[in-house]
Amino acid sequence: MNTPVKSRRPDFKLGRFDPCFCNSGKRFKSCCGSKDPHRPPPYGVQVVDNFLTNEQCDEWVTRAEKKKRSWLEVVDLEKSTRDNIALKMDPRRITQKVELEEI
Ligand SMILES: [Zn+2]
Repeated sequence: MNTPVKSRRPDFKLGRFDPCFCNSGKRFKSCCGSKDPHRPPPYGVQVVDNFLTNEQCDEWVTRAEKKKRSWLEVVDLEKSTRDNIALKMDPRRITQKVELEEI
């Protein structure tokens, strides 16, 4: 049975002055949407200082830059069902993933 999946937040459009989606109580522009280079990491991201040396970090970046990359998609709510999640391209999604393979 192909039951369309309904969005829990069909009107989800986050503006810079809206409350942040991470429930911090701050505005999006001052929280996860901040462009301050010293901002804390976005919700759900953990940073482990000095996990890699500067040289190891440079090596990972150099290797990652040579790998295949592709644009991330969004869930197509009109074509998705409970048993099958359909994806589609969306110009608002500006993130690419890198296939790190053996790295
Ligand atoms: Zn936030």
